[in-house]
Amino acid sequence: MAMNIILILGDQLSLSLASLKSARKSGDVVLMAEVMQEASYVRHHKKKLAVVFSAMRHFAEELREEGWAVDYVRLGDDGNSGSLKGEVERALQRHKADCVRLVEPGEWRLKSDIDSWVVDLGVTVEVLEDDRFICSHDRFRRWAKGRKSLRMEYFYREMRRDTGLLVDGDGEPEGGQWNFDHDNRKAASPDLFMPKLPQFEPDEITRDVLDMVAARFPDNFGDLEPFGYAVTRADAAAALDHFITRALARFGDYQDAMLEGEDHLYHSVLSPYINLGLLDPLEVCRRAVTAYEAGDAPLNAVEGFVRQIIGWREYVRGLYWLKMPDYRELNFFEAKRPLPAFYWTGETDMACLGAAIGQTRRLAYAHHIQRLMVTGNFAMLAGCSPQAVHEWYLAVYADAYEWVELPNTLGMSQFGDGGVMASKPYAASGNYISRMSDHCGKCRYSVSKKTGEGACPFNALYWDFLARNESKLKGNPRMGQMYATWNRMGEDKQREYRDSAKAFLDALEWDDGSWTATA
Ligand SMILES: Cc1cc2nc3c(=O)[nH]c(=O)nc-3n(C[C@H](O)[C@H](O)[C@H](O)COP(=O)(O)OP(=O)(O)OC[C@H]3O[C@@H](n4cnc5c(N)ncnc54)[C@H](O)[C@@H]3O)c2cc1C
Ligand code: SF4
Repeated sequence: MAMNIILILGDQLSLSLASLKSARKSGDVVLMAEVMQEASYVRHHKKKLAVVFSAMRHFAEELREEGWAVDYVRLGDDGNSGSLKGEVERALQRHKADCVRLVEPGEWRLKSDIDSWVVDLGVTVEVLEDDRFICSHDRFRRWAKGRKSLRMEYFYREMRRDTGLLVDGDGEPEGGQWNFDHDNRKAASPDLFMPKLPQFEPDEITRDVLDMVAARFPDNFGDLEPFGYAVTRADAAAALDHFITRALARFGDYQDAMLEGEDHLYHSVLSPYINLGLLDPLEVCRRAVTAYEAGDAPLNAVEGFVRQIIGWREYVRGLYWLKMPDYRELNFFEAKRPLPAFYWTGETDMACLGAAIGQTRRLAYAHHIQRLMVTGNFAMLAGCSPQAVHEWYLAVYADAYEWVELPNTLGMSQFGDGGVMASKPYAASGNYISRMSDHCGKCRYSVSKKTGEGACPFNALYWDFLARNESKLKGNPRMGQMYATWNRMGEDKQREYRDSAKAFLDALEWDDGSWTATA
């Protein structure tokens, strides 16, 4: 039988991958390739590059131990063509093969590239469905068909029933409700017993990768060291154990909270591992449900956690493939500004933004509310283009792949899709941040001051955003109360807000493109 090349992409590091299940250990060759095309389509955070390359190299070792023949091309290898297509072509020649099989890529960009291989390389290309997701493309299309509104909540209920997670024999939700979010909006206070995220000491493979990233990507965003991410399935499983036993019980209560000096609170920091394929999403959810059944974690925590994974994660992936490629270009507010330069430099005297961007630079991680209500909220209020915002999020987080990042950024956080994902923009003044965090007490700005020198910039920007976009938003029933307040204010007050916002924005330094220029 002719040999097949089994191509495994950098975020397909699962032994249960469909392409491996259908392959022969003796006869087929697994191809894995580090290529500049993938390492540079945005200027990825140094830690993100290191996580992916190190996890790929460890996975190749694991495959070899399992008896697979692995052809692994390193970034610095002689003859590396720099592109996946080039590496597939070279491998087909090396192994005298005429068929390449792979699991579908997660991103549109790569799918378009792979679609050209049959003609360009003159070989058979077999693309298998990625069955590591709970909801197939077909299943999502069927769910979406004919619906006026594609809200996650309804999709989530179907996923609960499909998976059997937290539902009884009649398909009814555990605890009588599908969603316990109303219990999940508590502010946190400093707590000496807050769990500390496990750190994994770099081994020789990771040290080589760290040296390579330092040498080849010196000007990329973010700190490379100290490096403590898991890069193997075993270490990712240890990180999951830590979360289930130490943090899950409080995950729900403090899901939206932010604290100075606490980078993770009770969040799991499992997204890089789930997205790479080191952890299986269903396995992660089952562990959480088992903790609930054992009485080790309350329902509001476990339901909230499960919802993020079988609800949000599956939903954004379905939406991405349903709406691409047009989705990437949507810009409901016609927002045109680049990002403020401080998104890249971290230099800002706004304490909330300084904390979120500072930890993003150090760790390639910020939790959901920091992404949505601090950096995302500010960029939307300031009128930044959703495409510029998208490029930033895609570059700076260790878990960022376009299929999950784009809907979250452009849809949820920037309202760029005009309301496909969210029923109203996630716009908020300083009050929200003050309620959910302890940043304001340490800030040079005063959150209670509305306009003028020393006033929290979020306050004027918030009203300026509403005023600027009144024609687009005033028909939204969920915005009615805000516009009623705005219109009651009187012209002088309104002008004060708008002048204050303008003065603040005029004084900002904006990204001149030097950070986003790719190699
Ligand atoms: C602007 C913006 C950009 C984002 N970009 C990404 C991204 O590039 N990659 C990414 O994985 N997530 C992204 N998210 C979603 C979410 O913020 C991260 O999944 C989460 O912060 C990861 O940290 P954690 O593992 O500690 O999550 P936890 O709070 O512990 O949540 C548990 C798991 O649920 C999943 N999850 C939670 N929320 C979401 C969501 N909204 N969409 C998809 N999965 C979710 C993740 O797998 C996560 O590990 C983004 C959110 C926003 C608002
Ligand atoms: S005062 Fe405003 S800018 Fe400062 S931390 Fe609070 S919300 Fe952020």
